[in-house]
Amino acid sequence: MYKMKNRKFIAFLIIVILIVLIIGNSLLSTKNVYEKEVDGHNGPIRVEVKIFNDIIEEIKILEHNETIEVVESTLDLIPKNIISRQSGNIDLITGATITGQAIIDAVSQCAKKAGLDLFSIKANQTNDINYNQKEYINVDVVVIGAGGAGLSAAVSASQHGASVLVIEKMTEIGGNTVRSIGMYNAVNPELQKPLGINDSEDIFFQETFLGGKELADPKLVEILTSQAYAGMLWLEDLGVKFDTQVDSCLGGEYARGYYTMSHNGSDYIKSLNKYCTNNEVDILLETKGTSLIVEDNKITGIIAKQHNKEIIITANKGVVIATGGFGYNIEKRMDYDNSLTADMLCSNAPGTTGDGIEMAKDVGANLINMEYIETYPLGDAYDGGLRNNIPDSINNGILINSDGKRFIAEDANRDNLSESILAQNEGFAYSVVDSDYLKDEKDIAYLEGLVSTGVVTKTFNIEELASKLMVDQNILEDEINKYNKFVDNQNDKDFNRKNLINKIDEPPFYYAKKKPTIHYTLGGIQINENTSVINTQGKVIKNLFAAGEVTGGIHGANRLGGNSLPDIIVFGKIAGYNAAMN
Ligand code: ADP
Repeated sequence: MYKMKNRKFIAFLIIVILIVLIIGNSLLSTKNVYEKEVDGHNGPIRVEVKIFNDIIEEIKILEHNETIEVVESTLDLIPKNIISRQSGNIDLITGATITGQAIIDAVSQCAKKAGLDLFSIKANQTNDINYNQKEYINVDVVVIGAGGAGLSAAVSASQHGASVLVIEKMTEIGGNTVRSIGMYNAVNPELQKPLGINDSEDIFFQETFLGGKELADPKLVEILTSQAYAGMLWLEDLGVKFDTQVDSCLGGEYARGYYTMSHNGSDYIKSLNKYCTNNEVDILLETKGTSLIVEDNKITGIIAKQHNKEIIITANKGVVIATGGFGYNIEKRMDYDNSLTADMLCSNAPGTTGDGIEMAKDVGANLINMEYIETYPLGDAYDGGLRNNIPDSINNGILINSDGKRFIAEDANRDNLSESILAQNEGFAYSVVDSDYLKDEKDIAYLEGLVSTGVVTKTFNIEELASKLMVDQNILEDEINKYNKFVDNQNDKDFNRKNLINKIDEPPFYYAKKKPTIHYTLGGIQINENTSVINTQGKVIKNLFAAGEVTGGIHGANRLGGNSLPDIIVFGKIAGYNAAMN
């Protein structure tokens, strides 16, 4: 009996000791959640910070009013970098420096409440020690940027026997290429002839060169227009599947634009990436090229930054710059065109900040056509993206302003369209189509898909259309009837539109709200026919190649819609080949 009591007492004692230990331990280690509101670019930003045992464990942006297209990568990377370095001494992201600094300030103030100094010597030292980590890599060809041009260069260099490494500064590959609708221009008799389209490489050249106001390098235009078809076949070999639809592009008279099955730039990236995965072409993500290495008057590699580490990549044969354009970099785009202010919508990926142009300039590269920055007239009026593009609406639809009226020949070139949309009340237009022009089941399903995601609206009669557009029904009806007569008579008396193939007469009617969006930077690094970078003295910079939106001279002052994909594929391929064979 006594022994029994004794055992019970010992068990009780053990439980008490355990409880004391647990409570004591949790009292010693404190996990605190702090919140701070600071001023961002467009208003307050509310940040939550979790700190545990003097370590910043989690940073959440609870609320903000920033423009998401501009700050997307800042909201993602600034918190990640503060946590990985436990320091406020981190790089801001060009184009969104105010937002980035605001987040650092908020976290720093939260850290202070927990007794931590985000800018203390300890934090700086940690940062320095980590940053001194170095890694050395040697390959034949290094490609900077994993968009369409970079991956094409990588695949092509690998196909020609080179060992290849691709570095990409963002957390994922694809750049602007994945954001595009994926229209690929080429003269492709197999698809064009059955539709009675008598196109030729010469017509394609003329439309491209004249469309660019004769400011492109004719040799490069000739390569683009004569090799686009071969590029398409190369893509098919890599697994890209093209639809049979042939579409007209903005600014071009002849229909020669093809789409991949999902009408999306990601199809190109997926196939190119698959080749890389299967053929030992490594892609290092979150690895930013910062400066080119020059030795004995030639480029021998690139220095890159990966979190806290410096990676020195030497390239036996060549370096390909494929870092895309600079549309996302507000300061830089305004240096060349000060009308492209921060409040303009932008369809570009956050990584397109012009890094490659700066790196090339630092080693003497010549830049051309930098002042030509293209706005895409028909961006989604809400976010500047391209998701709400109605298939073949350029040929078959009309543009209506907030008064319910047409205001331009809808087949005008991009510049004129953008300018004229911006001149309308509130600077937007509705793209309106009817429903009998889409014959292909797939296109109808695609359009209905856009309706179901809410980016395109379907209305069942003119009354409903006028009410949704918030315009006077009589005005809209008169305007549409007038346009339909122009189609009957093949004469647009109001705006002289040439392409008059479809009347707006068959309900349901679909529409999407459109605004010009910053879309493509036409200028960049000067290259020759081999994609070798040219310096300010007109000479080749040895071992340095460039391809894609980072280059200038392919499109001149204005780009034909659908020409960027053949540009990145054709010149990416050439760059990879020349680097590998160097
Ligand atoms: P293109 O159409 O010419 O291929 P993209 O915009 O599709 O251009 O791709 C360019 C890619 O280059 C983007 O993924 C972008 O994040 C990446 N990039 C830009 N600057 C750097 C850099 N300094 N280091 C590594 N990658 C970069």
